[in-house]
Amino acid sequence: PLALLKDPSLLKTDALIAGQWVAGDARFEVTDPSNGARLADVANLGELEAEQAIAAANAAWPAWRAKSGKERAAILRRWYDLLMANQEDLGRLMTAEQGKPFAEAKGEVAYGASFVEWFAEEAKRVNGETLPQWDNNRRLMVLRQPVGVCAAITPWNFPLAMITRKVAPALAAGCPVVIKPAELTPLTALAAAELALRAGIPAGVLNVITADSANSIAIGKVFCASDVVRHISFTGSTEVGRILMAQSAPTIKKLSLELGGNAPFIVFDDADIDSAVEGAIASKYRNAGQTCVCANRLYVQEGVYDVFVEKFAAKVQAMKVGNGFEDGVVQGPLIEDAAVEKVERHVKDAVAKGGRVVVGGQKLKGQFFQPTVIADATGDMLCAREETFGPLAPVFRFKTEQEAIDAANNTEFGLASYFYSRDIGRIYRVGEALEYGMVGINVGIIATEHVPFGGVKQSGLGREGSHHGMDEYLEIKYLCIGDI
Ligand code: ADP
Repeated sequence: PLALLKDPSLLKTDALIAGQWVAGDARFEVTDPSNGARLADVANLGELEAEQAIAAANAAWPAWRAKSGKERAAILRRWYDLLMANQEDLGRLMTAEQGKPFAEAKGEVAYGASFVEWFAEEAKRVNGETLPQWDNNRRLMVLRQPVGVCAAITPWNFPLAMITRKVAPALAAGCPVVIKPAELTPLTALAAAELALRAGIPAGVLNVITADSANSIAIGKVFCASDVVRHISFTGSTEVGRILMAQSAPTIKKLSLELGGNAPFIVFDDADIDSAVEGAIASKYRNAGQTCVCANRLYVQEGVYDVFVEKFAAKVQAMKVGNGFEDGVVQGPLIEDAAVEKVERHVKDAVAKGGRVVVGGQKLKGQFFQPTVIADATGDMLCAREETFGPLAPVFRFKTEQEAIDAANNTEFGLASYFYSRDIGRIYRVGEALEYGMVGINVGIIATEHVPFGGVKQSGLGREGSHHGMDEYLEIKYLCIGDI
């Protein structure tokens, strides 16, 4: 698939440090999840190069922060334009290494680029405050200043957007960044970095350290232990988030963490069922169920349970699975064998505990898994407690509103949640009662660049996107001026 790139020079396989492409001494293989074919051998860097990248970022910081917000905005805007001008090639790289259908990949390029556009605009609006003085001899001010060198560790499920959602606000705020992209999807990250250079982002302001999984762990330790790195932004599993938080304690590092979810999707008796079915399909099966906001547990009230399951299952049955470059495919492969095994484990466990497979349920060849619906799901099943991160929709039955709220909140996670109702009182009650950072009401897709994305409980710390997303990369400084 990569032979079809319109601009073959976007296929970068070396890392980027201080504006130089660095080959390193070793390589690791990047493969196509749809067939296991080798796509590229990418530079496998380690602790030494991580230190070099941190030093390069630190050296580039003073000049970057000294630029006006408007100057940084112009450079970011050029990066946005280049990302969009190369949407097709970036989408191609993404489908090849990540597996999502090509149309969805191009959609992610637009979504990922939108953070660069948004934060380019926000770069001009880093306002401070003046406060009333307590005597006329003083003046009081609040400045907002860039936090310093930032590190970003990103996952494979959104190879571009999880990078731009962190890097764009950091750069806009005046911070340099070192990115450690997921080892499964470094090609999209490197192409985006090449476009950043073309846009005029100065050497050292944006660095990309590629590494395999073992070296990623070592690099994570370097980031956490560094006094120069002032902030780490991580998107990935709760387990790794905990490790990074523990490792960051000695340096009291600022952290933004976007971790796992276990999203409930509730359909009340008074819902518009066709709309709920559409929303459930979009929320559950996007990216083959591999997003942290995918519906993980469907709760449907008893009065509409059978009709919902019937309509939902009919739509799921019609979904075409295959290589993301094939026409009409809406679900690609899962990212790796372990992901397929997890879905299989959840299906088997559900069936053993009385679940009824209505559609799918089977592993297909390679890393493909049938889109699956299991009815009569119960709270003792693994899929009720763990994030499946795959194309399995367990459908639970409930009687009362309170029962649905309690079940939805019965998890250590608190990222996205969804519910369908036409009753305005219920919309307020349930919207307020759900312990989640985000609530979709009569809608299955909620993310966009100008809203605060993030979770409560063990789903993370901080928010990405919106004007709140800038705050993560800014420090507040209070100036008290006397002798006026
Ligand atoms: P996922 O479950 O989405 O694969 P992970 O949390 O395993 O998420 O990985 C997300 C990112 O975190 C990847 O870039 C990966 O290389 C990195 N990573 C995994 N383990 C560690 C670790 N112990 N320290 C630092 N980074 C890590």
